[in-house]
Amino acid sequence: MSIDEGYLTVVELKRYAYCPRIVFITHVLHHEEVKSEAMEVGSEEHDARKLAPLISKLKAVNVLKNVELVSEGLGIVGKLDYLMLTRLGEYVPVEVKWAESENSKIKWDHKLQLAAYALLVEERFNTIVKRGYVYYLREHRVAETILSEGLKKLVIKAVREIYDMIENERDPGIKVPTTKCFSCGYKAYCRPGLFPPAGPLYKESRPRMGPEAIKQKISKRNYNVRR
Ligand code: SF4
Repeated sequence: MSIDEGYLTVVELKRYAYCPRIVFITHVLHHEEVKSEAMEVGSEEHDARKLAPLISKLKAVNVLKNVELVSEGLGIVGKLDYLMLTRLGEYVPVEVKWAESENSKIKWDHKLQLAAYALLVEERFNTIVKRGYVYYLREHRVAETILSEGLKKLVIKAVREIYDMIENERDPGIKVPTTKCFSCGYKAYCRPGLFPPAGPLYKESRPRMGPEAIKQKISKRNYNVRR
């Protein structure tokens, strides 16, 4: 499912948290990400055995992999790397990242991504998700975050903002520090003065629904927050 079908992916929410302009470039300007070698490596299948210490720490009795989740009400879909169920009945979402942590802590965009998965898990399994983990592959580090109600509300807010941005084709502008742009796969479109493209860049735009059609698809959504 995609935004053309009235759904945002959790990955798009993560990108929005990293920099709102990425979602604008993707869904309004329709440009594809230019992936570096490191990004390709990061998207490869990872070895679940690396999570053994976390499974042991949580005393997980069940570990689900690549869990597909959807919320009709929120208009979000996503595929969670791992969902662990503890012997006390707690559901714990776990993401695996090639990127590095932020001073041993979970990066903001990864935190929002986990909170979005938490909402989806809560709806699917009728539970409350209190914490989540990111395993940073390169550092062999597992970082924990509390998934508070405030954080989950920020996810709802971001979903509304994204739909509003796309419907109104509103450019959020460049509001992040240049340091973030170095590792961004959209920098050659967004900041060509700073990062000139190395080769042919502009691919043919993907066929997509226009803003009016998207608007009709998502206009009935009420973004229910059940708290
Ligand atoms: S280049 Fe920088 S400002 Fe532009 S989309 Fe990427 S992170 Fe955002």
